[in-house]
Amino acid sequence: MHHKVIIEPFRIKTVEAIAMTTDQERRQFLKDAHFNPFLLKSEQVIIDLLTDSGTSAMSASQWSAMMSGDESYAGARSWHRLEKTIHDLTGYPHILPTHQGRAAERILYSHLGGKGKVFISNTHFDTTRANIEFSGAAAIDCPVEESLHTEVTYPFKGNLDTKRLRALIKEHGSENIAAVILTVTNNTGGGQPVSMANAREVGEICKQNGILFILDACRIAENAYFINHRERGYGEKTYKEIAQEMFSYADGCVMSAKKDGLVNIGGFLALRDKELSDACTSLLIITEGFTTYGGLAGRDMEAMSVGLQEVFEPDYLTYRIRSTQYLGDKIHELGVPIMLPVGGHAVYVDSMKLYPHIPVDEYPGQSLVCELYEKGGIRCVEIGSVMFGKYDETGKLIPAAMELVRLAIPRRVYTQSHVDYVVEVFREIVATKDLARGLRIVREPRFLRHFTAHFERV
Ligand SMILES: *Cc1c(COP(=O)(O)O)cnc(C)c1O
Repeated sequence: MHHKVIIEPFRIKTVEAIAMTTDQERRQFLKDAHFNPFLLKSEQVIIDLLTDSGTSAMSASQWSAMMSGDESYAGARSWHRLEKTIHDLTGYPHILPTHQGRAAERILYSHLGGKGKVFISNTHFDTTRANIEFSGAAAIDCPVEESLHTEVTYPFKGNLDTKRLRALIKEHGSENIAAVILTVTNNTGGGQPVSMANAREVGEICKQNGILFILDACRIAENAYFINHRERGYGEKTYKEIAQEMFSYADGCVMSAKKDGLVNIGGFLALRDKELSDACTSLLIITEGFTTYGGLAGRDMEAMSVGLQEVFEPDYLTYRIRSTQYLGDKIHELGVPIMLPVGGHAVYVDSMKLYPHIPVDEYPGQSLVCELYEKGGIRCVEIGSVMFGKYDETGKLIPAAMELVRLAIPRRVYTQSHVDYVVEVFREIVATKDLARGLRIVREPRFLRHFTAHFERV
């Protein structure tokens, strides 16, 4: 018999208490945090949808593997196990462990980047862009047109626009293009999947032009689920086989294992080319650690080995994608404008459509983020002009392409009743939407300002 309710495919063995708070307490907490939920204490939060990064619940198998962690400085058994797991998945011969994704990015992109260099991606994630720009290079986003329209239900909105990629190669010259980075799924673009056909074509274009092709593989298992269910010819393939095929088209990958590695810390860089890998290894040793641990404890590497295998289990992935979809469907029914179709790890709300009365330079996304916290203790993040806005010479805001708010779902952490609570809070958000007010920035750092900026209500 086919059941409609997708239950969590796990039982709960360890629990963590959630501290409940009142509306009044939260109003004060938010003020003290300068209207930036990144500055809240976690115990002030009821449902934390800030990120799916490093927030996964580990399985009993992962915890027991941690006990057998080999903490040797060099040549640890835990490293060899992890290396084998990653090699088996990616097919790449050179693997560099790092403490998280951005460390892999910093190593690779600072080596490849520098003034005059250009990187092209479906969409650069914030840490990716920051590492590239910090090196002096330029980061150009090249998503397909469909991705810019939140209501268009194109199945592979994460795709890179290959026609524009060819034009950009002509314009900048292939020798100036440091790499093409395909982010799967496309986090910033709404957690939308990339099709196998697109990855294959990007790979061919890069090969023809002698350009390095890197996968940002943070959510490659979730991406594989979408390919299996939406792309012709992949319904019979396992999720892992789909991921393996995608890796085969690229020259290497960076991965934050805090996503589809199902761990709380960890990452890696994997490459085909020995020369490139040697150059990166030097940088790895300077700042991360020796080549057989790269900033990780042996036990962290054990948890990662198990997580990278568990994440491809069909029951897990079905639950994962369907439960994200559940939240999206429920708030969409309430009239909340969301990015369609719902992506893999998060639901993205289009705050400009929800709050048409708040101008872009008063950050409608940040306003929604604050409303969700005040009304329900829900923490999430703005992915719009706070995160990606720039200023022109006169100090006027150059806004981001969209003003989204991301409700990221931690893996294996919340149950359906937690999600139903979030839906209830959204009911109140919709009922009071005309009362929401904008914000102005009163303090900001130069890079990644969304993490620490201070705001005031307009
Ligand atoms: C999280 C993430 C990163 C950075 O990884 P960290 O582990 O947070 O340093 C890079 N790219 C994408 C697409 C991500 O989602």
